[in-house]
Amino acid sequence: MSEVIIPGASGIIQNEPLLWEKGGKGRRGMCVPGSDVPAAELPAALCRGELDFPELSEVDVVRHYTRLSQWNFGVDSGMYPLGSCTMKYNPKINEKAAATPALAAAHPMLPDELVQGSLQVMYELQSYLAAITGLPAVTLQPAAGAHGELTGMLIFAAWHKSRNSRRTKILIPDTAHGTNPASAALCGYKPVPIRSGPEGILEVAAIEAAMDEETAGIMITNPNTLGLFETRIREIAAIVHAKGGLVYGDGANMNAIMGIIDARRCGVDVLHLNLHKTFSTPHGGGGPGAGPLCVSEELARFLPAPRAVRDGDLYRLDWGGSDSVGRVHAFHGNVSVLLRAYAYIRSMGAENLKKASQLAVLNAAYIKERLRGTLPLAYDRPCMHECVFSDAQLQEHKVTTLDVAKRLIDCGYHPPTIYFPLVVHGAIMIEPTETECKADIDQFIAVLEQIVREAAENPELLRQAPLRTKVRRLDETLAARQPCLCGS
Ligand SMILES: *Cc1c(COP(=O)(O)O)cnc(C)c1O
Repeated sequence: MSEVIIPGASGIIQNEPLLWEKGGKGRRGMCVPGSDVPAAELPAALCRGELDFPELSEVDVVRHYTRLSQWNFGVDSGMYPLGSCTMKYNPKINEKAAATPALAAAHPMLPDELVQGSLQVMYELQSYLAAITGLPAVTLQPAAGAHGELTGMLIFAAWHKSRNSRRTKILIPDTAHGTNPASAALCGYKPVPIRSGPEGILEVAAIEAAMDEETAGIMITNPNTLGLFETRIREIAAIVHAKGGLVYGDGANMNAIMGIIDARRCGVDVLHLNLHKTFSTPHGGGGPGAGPLCVSEELARFLPAPRAVRDGDLYRLDWGGSDSVGRVHAFHGNVSVLLRAYAYIRSMGAENLKKASQLAVLNAAYIKERLRGTLPLAYDRPCMHECVFSDAQLQEHKVTTLDVAKRLIDCGYHPPTIYFPLVVHGAIMIEPTETECKADIDQFIAVLEQIVREAAENPELLRQAPLRTKVRRLDETLAARQPCLCGS
């Protein structure tokens, strides 16, 4: 077999000190002509010498920031197959559209008549998200997926209260995203864990046994965090509804089902979307996100206010009635993220959104089939947008999932999600997304095959990886809790 081409290879990784350690007395980025007016005294605080500014040339500054940028990995530099995160490439045209000055610089307190364009964008985005989910009423306020979940739980509580029904618990499958039980608990509900069946999806009997009239409803992630479609969702929703509960759909994985699944027809009452996953906002760096919440007609009156509405040819903010759960975000939410989503949806069109989902699923299914002989599949059934392998075979060589992930960094890839979902031992969860082409996916597969060969032939190499990076194996917990920001 020919040698695997590794995109990361090795090469130049520049060291870079702080700007303060870098410059030199008298270096400067530009020279201005001598003054032809009489000199005047500057206030002392503005004089160089009082302030500790580094003195640097233009090339010092350009190299500094360019080098720092190259220490980072992003979806613009390579494949980022992080399961449950949808790290797809985001077309630059959407960034440009979101930066349109009239929209990006609009003051949030301008009266409705002066921001008709912004209100129209918000109104239309609400209707597009309603069309994509099948749920007609939408708030754009929540700032992230988990924030959408919390808003959804507030709506659950408000609805139950309006019917004088007291409910204390909520069903959460073991394949739900970790934010689900946290959001429910924050809202005062006690999460009741539900085990998924041997096929990795929910079984109707488990819901039948757990659902009672003290339970507010269920939170279902579909496709679930194993990348599997919950095929029994309609039967499950019927059981929950029959006992007076509501169904929350975690729609963060919408990238797998756009234009294919209608959540309402699946029995879902409330669902959030992650615009910073599916709809063209880069994410992962802690920047702003948006988790719009879509609800059924019956629950519309509980939505946060205000929402954009249309009266004839004019758009305005509607402040809702007394049933609203109130505001969950200042002003209109994270508008820049909403603008990107709007631009993405408009530039793609309905047919292409559907095609994006089909390709996302096809790419994951392709990886699953190509790697099934290399790594054991956690659940051998058709996958959606991501596929999950276990570490059963790696264990034989005393190599861990973490070792494989670290070795992938040496080879130029961001590692996939590992050790999640918790129901799979040593899980390796790969989500290629629709934006990777077949040639790049083939290369990723070849690299992973090589790493698994190395696990058998040279396990010590894997245990020491990464070897070609700027820093070696970090203590991740310590790195997150006590970050070293001084550059050494
Ligand atoms: C990412 C994700 C969330 C949480 O979204 P945040 O924006 O990170 O709060 C919730 N559920 C699922 C299934 C997810 O993938």
